[in-house]
Amino acid sequence: MGNFDNFVSLDLGKLSEDDSRFGRGKRVNRLKVQVGQPRVIRILRGPTDSTFYRVRSQHWGIPVGHGNTPPLACARKHADEPCYFCEMVNEYFNSGDPRQAALGRKMKIAVSVLLNVIDVKDPHNEDGTPKVLLWNPSWKLFQEVRAYFRDPDYGDLTHPETGRNFKISSSQVSSQGERTWTRYDLQVGAKPTELEVPEALDHLYDLDSTFPVKLYSYEQQTMIFDGTWDPRTGSAALPASAASVAPKLTSEVPVASDDDEFEPSSTEDSDEFETADDDEWDDVLADDSSKQAAMKKKLQALKQAARTK
Ligand SMILES: [Zn+2]
Repeated sequence: MGNFDNFVSLDLGKLSEDDSRFGRGKRVNRLKVQVGQPRVIRILRGPTDSTFYRVRSQHWGIPVGHGNTPPLACARKHADEPCYFCEMVNEYFNSGDPRQAALGRKMKIAVSVLLNVIDVKDPHNEDGTPKVLLWNPSWKLFQEVRAYFRDPDYGDLTHPETGRNFKISSSQVSSQGERTWTRYDLQVGAKPTELEVPEALDHLYDLDSTFPVKLYSYEQQTMIFDGTWDPRTGSAALPASAASVAPKLTSEVPVASDDDEFEPSSTEDSDEFETADDDEWDDVLADDSSKQAAMKKKLQALKQAARTK
């Protein structure tokens, strides 16, 4: 006894840090907004990150008929390179065959926005750590968020001391009988509030590494589309016998993170604002002044409404 006086205590922080850094299969905790249960959130931005969101433009449902495959980043949108998937989507759309057109619709680009947020009314996990959530709004809803950020009256809404919270609520909207959509409404906090859980900023999802943009060459894209090459294993998808003979190492090389792909809002939430058209993406790069004006108008109306409440 007594020989362990200098025995330092176990660094549990390191343990969880390594877990979040190296652990595979880590679950991503997502923000869900259920009807009748509005949530008040704070958008979180890393202290050294000059932006607070990431955008992914992806094709789903490829190869055709394989619903359960990870989404594939669009080479045209992400790198200005030829995208075979886009070409095929066009071909399917223009085939004149309604079934092909339906497939084309399934595979066309879906825009996803990724943000770190915290529910200010439920900010902790059971173990006391900050409960950071991944928010995956539709592009349309995100436009409203962006409008607030653009308004100089609000300043930096992610600032830990002078930022503001957002309230998100959802409702079911039915249109023409059987079809229903979930509609999301966004309100901004009337005044700046402090981020009550500042340590949340040490627990953000690294959006770049958690949702990497993995691009493939044009030739690889054609093989992925045909189902003759599986990007997850880096080996031929068919025939199975050949795949099993292939050296093991090649299949152990980690490729696209398929642990927790985010769903496109268009299918998961049946979001009313499910359109993810090309020109929407272009908004990221070039600002359309008429759209800005429309957004501004809406913002003014919202502010007005907030004041009269
Ligand atoms: Zn594409």
